[in-house]
Amino acid sequence: GAVDEMTETLIRRRQSLLGPAYRLFYERPIHMVRGEGPWLFDASGERYLDAYNNVVSVGHCHPHIVDAIARQAAVLNTHTRYLGDSILDYAERILATMPDALGNIMFTCTGSEANDLALRVARHCTDRKGVIVTQLAYHGVTQAVSEVSPSLGFGGERPPHVRTIAAPDTYRLEGDIAELLAAQTRQAVAELEAAGYGVAALMCDTIFSSDGVFTTRGLLSGAAAAVQAAGGLYIADEVQAGFGRTGENMWGFARHGVTPDIVTMGKPMGNGHPVAAAIMRPELLAQFGERARYFNTFGGNTVSCAAAAATLDVIEQEGLPANADKVGAYFRQRLQTLMTRHDCIGDVRGAGLFLGLELVSARDGKIPNATLASRVVNGMRDKRILISTTGIHGNVLKIRPPLIWQQEHVDMFVDSLDSLLKDLAR
Ligand code: PMP
Repeated sequence: GAVDEMTETLIRRRQSLLGPAYRLFYERPIHMVRGEGPWLFDASGERYLDAYNNVVSVGHCHPHIVDAIARQAAVLNTHTRYLGDSILDYAERILATMPDALGNIMFTCTGSEANDLALRVARHCTDRKGVIVTQLAYHGVTQAVSEVSPSLGFGGERPPHVRTIAAPDTYRLEGDIAELLAAQTRQAVAELEAAGYGVAALMCDTIFSSDGVFTTRGLLSGAAAAVQAAGGLYIADEVQAGFGRTGENMWGFARHGVTPDIVTMGKPMGNGHPVAAAIMRPELLAQFGERARYFNTFGGNTVSCAAAAATLDVIEQEGLPANADKVGAYFRQRLQTLMTRHDCIGDVRGAGLFLGLELVSARDGKIPNATLASRVVNGMRDKRILISTTGIHGNVLKIRPPLIWQQEHVDMFVDSLDSLLKDLAR
């Protein structure tokens, strides 16, 4: 399908000004001009149902957050070298959602910086360098975290201090997957020790977003315990899974039953305002702080703290984890019903409002169908519903709507997908 002239002009301007490293969504890119709740609006006024953007987790342009940002910006915006109470009030609130052992928080601007800091602390405290991650993990953009991001090709080739364990593919792998990951972790620890690096940490996205969205409880329990038993740290990357996304609990790591040493978070923390953090055991920070200093100019600034606090207000006041559970369960059930009509749906999985839908050539044999997945993403876009794909085979629909979704949004999504799959099968 062609795009209009205005869009064409924007695409050309963008390429000439921003260069080639950025990617656009969809064969027919969209020029967005406004957002409201679960909706986005393009330049011609068309309305899109956002089923993908997990940053604006409590809805686009939520008035309570917009208001908090605007008010604070009009009064003071400064950094962590002055005393302030809003950062401490927020710290108390967020730490209260964590296991007791995790008693300190440090603020950054992005998830990448939070993971970068987590790795620095882990390496400092263990005096080791090795890191274990899952097969297609993504942990961010800095040099250090791109090296532990196989989905970026490790920012080059796999560095010698990095080892991977399998993506916990609950659809294709047989047997006890948690035990498989534990065994692979023990093997990786042995290799890192033999190579002279030792193991500093296992870093894991607790819902395996880029590995393909795997939501079975306990998948990480053995691996996390194994790395801790070897004297390494378990770093739970909650950038995707955190803040009620997975439903009944605020944090994805709760599904795996092991308390992390460090928890990192970002994306939905300020509902679109850049604020992120690393939460950790105070003993670790005491050790790190003895020698290292850390000042992040914008991390934890006054406006960011206002945005983060307002986001937490909305999550609590609107009961969004419970809503994610309720609407997510309904969503999965409706998608599972679609399986009876469409043989190309191999698997539907999810926790709260983070769903993965596996598209296959035929259900027998579970052969991944990335071409179909890409057609579905673009076809849904043309029906003005926004999603994308993920996973090792690129065939998993990644569905992460705002946590404010209601049944009517699910119905709109499922009915559109149903009719699209019918058309594509023709
Ligand atoms: N970890 C995970 C699991 C992520 O999904 C992302 C962002 N996609 C990051 C870390 C990096 O966060 P940021 O883009 O804010 O640096």
